[in-house]
Amino acid sequence: MRPTVLCFSGLDPSGGAGLQADIEAIGQSGAHAAIACTALTIQNSQQVFGFEATSKELLLAQANAVVKDLPIKAIKSGMLGTTDNIAALAAFLREHPDYLYVLDPVLVANSGGSLGNQETLVKAFVELIPFATVITPNTVELRALTGEQDLEKATAKLFEMGAQAVLVKGGHENTPEYIRNALYENGEMISETKCPRLDGEYHGSGCSLASFIAGRLAQGDELKVAVNHAEAWLFGVLKNAESPVEGGQKIPKRF
Ligand code: PLP
Repeated sequence: MRPTVLCFSGLDPSGGAGLQADIEAIGQSGAHAAIACTALTIQNSQQVFGFEATSKELLLAQANAVVKDLPIKAIKSGMLGTTDNIAALAAFLREHPDYLYVLDPVLVANSGGSLGNQETLVKAFVELIPFATVITPNTVELRALTGEQDLEKATAKLFEMGAQAVLVKGGHENTPEYIRNALYENGEMISETKCPRLDGEYHGSGCSLASFIAGRLAQGDELKVAVNHAEAWLFGVLKNAESPVEGGQKIPKRF
């Protein structure tokens, strides 16, 4: 059986982000995706209308059921929804120190809609940081997690908070022509990539990138190789993304 990535992520009924993005990206990376569902969201390509989070008991019951019979090599987390779910994931990771772990610190949807109480989520994420093989914040999340506005200081602070590696994604920065991502390991930058900025807004780009990285790590790639492969793959799926309606975010075409 293919190496498995167990994702802790929410359902986005539009199919652009969340657990569907994870399943498709991990499938494309060559690994198998399993899901412990953290929340059911109500949203489309334009707006988040609300969500209902899974209880921590139900979340852990899902994860523990598959741990017993799938060849899990890596964990990926996206929307966790509540501080209870974050604490439950931390307890799960403590029990499974051998798993690789990709932490996508999701706070809000790209459309701006709430996926949980940002203030309490930020505090709770601190517990997950030391477990992560790599953390994949965009610059908004990086600033929120660290309370530092300057990106260099914010990255350094994340390492002080126990991070092992950080992929800083520059999509929210004011660089109209390009997007710059920088990968840091043990406080040092080990990779910098720039790709042309594509027009429009994309739904589920962060989920797709983090999941593809987790899929490649599960199959034995080194971190830098996994990240660079995922970045190249993501550019292709965003270039082919489809617009459901005028004004809506584009849905990446992951197949
Ligand atoms: N997880 C869920 C369930 C979501 O609905 C969203 C955004 O809508 C995300 C994660 C984060 O999406 P993105 O990859 O666009 O940051």
